[in-house]
Amino acid sequence: MATSMNGRALARARNQALRARIAALPRPPGLAVVLVGADPASQVYVGRKATVAVRLGLHHQQLDLPASTPEVELLGLIDRLNADPLVDGILVQVPLPVHMDRQRVLDRIDPAKDVDGFHPWNMGLLAQGRPRFVACTPRGIMALLAEHGVPLQGQRAVVVGRSTIVGRPVSLLLDAANATVTVCHSRTRDLEARVREADVVVVAVGKPDAVPAAWIKPGAAVVDVGVNRLEDGTLVGDLGAGPELEAAGWVTPVPGGVGPMTIAMLMANTVESAERRLAQG
Ligand code: NDP
Repeated sequence: MATSMNGRALARARNQALRARIAALPRPPGLAVVLVGADPASQVYVGRKATVAVRLGLHHQQLDLPASTPEVELLGLIDRLNADPLVDGILVQVPLPVHMDRQRVLDRIDPAKDVDGFHPWNMGLLAQGRPRFVACTPRGIMALLAEHGVPLQGQRAVVVGRSTIVGRPVSLLLDAANATVTVCHSRTRDLEARVREADVVVVAVGKPDAVPAAWIKPGAAVVDVGVNRLEDGTLVGDLGAGPELEAAGWVTPVPGGVGPMTIAMLMANTVESAERRLAQG
């Protein structure tokens, strides 16, 4: 029977461990979350982040802008948050409205406050093997694998998906952990063969059944990042269901796997940012 990698339990433990560090600071870490427009999924995500941030005693502010906001106004807001000494972390929720240039917006965030880890400066540091802010979902995936003692060194890891938010950074982290990493995407020929040989599979595609259960090698660890809402309202990941999963070594549930870890890692990044900035005076 595969071990379920319970993200809820680990996120709770990690959040709890942050409390003492927060209490040791002369002021609460400050997190500013900017939401442009009223995308329902984004509203749910920022709501969850707010709940955890407030519960931990962070100084949390959510800035809601209408979808019609000109990009220059958003950039102005980011400039003000960059200059605010009480703000340690800035997160602009994506996706942004189509009239905005997402990369230009994310590039405007001070890299020292980039708790989402999407700024090219932080991505570059990660690529060089000297990470500062690591994107929350990839960091959460690595924490889940470490917590469950999943062997990585010398193992074959297959990452399905190469987005800058999940696939690419997690492939760099797996490489840093000395796994031999193959990154697959929509143009990959014979994805099945790649997945079948993997000891560790990370699926971040955004399509139900992108990786069927039958492809999973017995004993492998599978991290399912996908969040897909079916027509009947059910939430499923990218990994197909099937009896073959019983022979896997470890599997993350959806929901309750990667999702809670993403939020816990945002809290960790914010606390670390505050510690760093306060130490610098
Ligand atoms: P993107 O849409 O940015 O990237 C999807 C990737 O999947 C692309 O690299 C794409 O390839 C690849 N792909 C698409 N179709 C296939 C296919 N048939 N076979 C192989 N690869 C394919 O998605 P994200 O990385 O942002 O998110 C992926 C999923 O993870 C989504 O469901 C999202 O909701 C979820 N997610 C969950 C989080 C959490 O905290 N639980 C956090 C972030 C995301 P190509 O590059 O060639 O287009």
